[in-house]
Amino acid sequence: MTFPPSAEPLPDVQRVLCVFAHPDDVDFGCAGTVAGWVDAGIEVAYLLITRGDAGGFDDTPRDRMPLLREAEQRAAASAVGVKQVDFLDGYGDGTVTPTVELRREITAAIRRFRPDRILTSSPLRRWERIAGPSHPDHLAVGEATTCAVYPDARNPFAYPDLHDLPAWTVREVWYTGGPNPDHAVDITDLFDRKLAALRAHVTQVSHVEGFVDVIRRRHGDVAARLGLPAGRLAEAYTIIRTG
Ligand SMILES: [Zn+2]
Repeated sequence: MTFPPSAEPLPDVQRVLCVFAHPDDVDFGCAGTVAGWVDAGIEVAYLLITRGDAGGFDDTPRDRMPLLREAEQRAAASAVGVKQVDFLDGYGDGTVTPTVELRREITAAIRRFRPDRILTSSPLRRWERIAGPSHPDHLAVGEATTCAVYPDARNPFAYPDLHDLPAWTVREVWYTGGPNPDHAVDITDLFDRKLAALRAHVTQVSHVEGFVDVIRRRHGDVAARLGLPAGRLAEAYTIIRTG
């Protein structure tokens, strides 16, 4: 199972909602793209399903981790100009599944923010590399978000307890971290802001040797694979129209 070739991005997007499992997901995959959208006048908001309570690499007291990571995600958002960052309660890092309750909460967020576009993690596993992008929380959030886009958010009869929030049709979904992404966004000129966002995730990245080189090489490889000129850096997606 894989994605079809990407659709052309919609030309008239005003609002984008980014839905991810953990603090740092949006920044590793997409912070350059998000910075470009903000610069273009698009309103971007983040919805985080967990506070990344299973993350970290040292002996920071575990009960402090969710608070630290929430603050890190807010700082990272601010580095790329995103002001609205919301967290759901009640979902534990490493235990997210695409339940109807999670779909209902994402549906409520969609109906409140009314995005033209959703950015989320791929619900399709990359079998050649099951670590990283194919973390089960990422797959679960991609699946639950896709179900919230269709049919939940657009169906006025879904979730009677949300009837005060009018139905809303999200027209386009961008997936990151999936198999064979074919839509490149050139982030070369936005790379410093992506790095600033990533550096805000101190509990996750401060121990990585040669961090800037690792990230630069990763996005240089993405650019090369998708045919951008030498020296360019890119983030890559699959784009699906939902109509
Ligand atoms: Zn993650």
